Amino acid sequence: MQQYFIDSMNRKMNTGTITGSDVHHIKHVMRLDVKDKIIVCHEGVCYDSTITDMNDDTVHVSIGKKRLNTELGVTVDIAQALIKKDNFELMLQKTSELGANSIIPLNTAHSIVKLSDKKLPNKLSRWNKITKEACEQSKRSHITEVTPPTTIEDIDLHNYNYVFVLYAKEDNTMFTYDPLKVTGNILVMVGPEGGFTQEEITYLNQFDNTEVISLGKRILRSETAPLFVLSVIGYFDALGDQS
Ligand code: SAH
Repeated sequence: MQQYFIDSMNRKMNTGTITGSDVHHIKHVMRLDVKDKIIVCHEGVCYDSTITDMNDDTVHVSIGKKRLNTELGVTVDIAQALIKKDNFELMLQKTSELGANSIIPLNTAHSIVKLSDKKLPNKLSRWNKITKEACEQSKRSHITEVTPPTTIEDIDLHNYNYVFVLYAKEDNTMFTYDPLKVTGNILVMVGPEGGFTQEEITYLNQFDNTEVISLGKRILRSETAPLFVLSVIGYFDALGDQS
C-alpha cells in the first residue's frame, strides 16, 4: 500500500486531505481512484485510509485504523559534512530508509562543496523531497528533516545524550553500541571526503557526551559511514522489538 504524509487532518470527522505533488503521484503515477486504500501519516502517526474523493489538486481520504509506529526507539540525527551532490543525495535517501530523525549538513574545514546562499532554498527543498519520498517508501511514521547547513561549532551538542564522531584513524577506539546504555537523542558526525581535521577532533573531544570512534580497518566513503552506524542501531532496535 502506498503511503503519504499529509498536512491536514480532521480528527473529529476522521478525514484528511492530500495536496501538492502527492496528488499527481496518487492519480497519475499510482493510478489510484476513489475506494482505493492508502496509508496516510500525520504528526508522526500513520493510519489505514480510503480515498473518498478526488479533484484536480486535492485527494480526500477517510481515516481508519492506526498503524504500528515504525520509528527507531532512539532519535538519531546525522551531522553529515557536505560532499559531492550525488553522494550526498544517496546518503539522504538511505539514511531516511534506515530511520534517521534529521540530517544536519555540515560545512567543515575540508569540505570542498560550498553552497551559495542563493542556491540554498532550492537545495533544501530538493533534499527534503528526497527524504520525504524515502520515508514514504520505507513506511516510516516520521519524515527525516534536512536542516540548513551549519558548522561544527554551531551545533548544540548539549542537546544530545550521545555524540559519535566518526574518525578514520587506526588507533581509534572501535564503535561499540549497547542499546541498554545508549538511549534518547544520538548525534552521529561524519566527515567529508578529506576527513575531519585534528583541530576539529580536539574541539569535539572536549565534550563529555562525545566519543571519537572508528568503524574498523577499512576506510568507508563519507556517504557509507552513517549507513554503517544506522544499520547497527537498527539491528539492535529490531532485536528489541522481537523480545
Ligand atoms: N581521507 C580521510 C577519510 C575520509 S572518509 C582520512 O584518511 O582521514 C570520510 C568520512 O567517513 C570520515 O571523515 C569519517 O567520518 C567516516 N569514516 C570512513 N571510514 C571510517 C572508519 N573506518 N572509521 C571511522 N570513520 C570513518
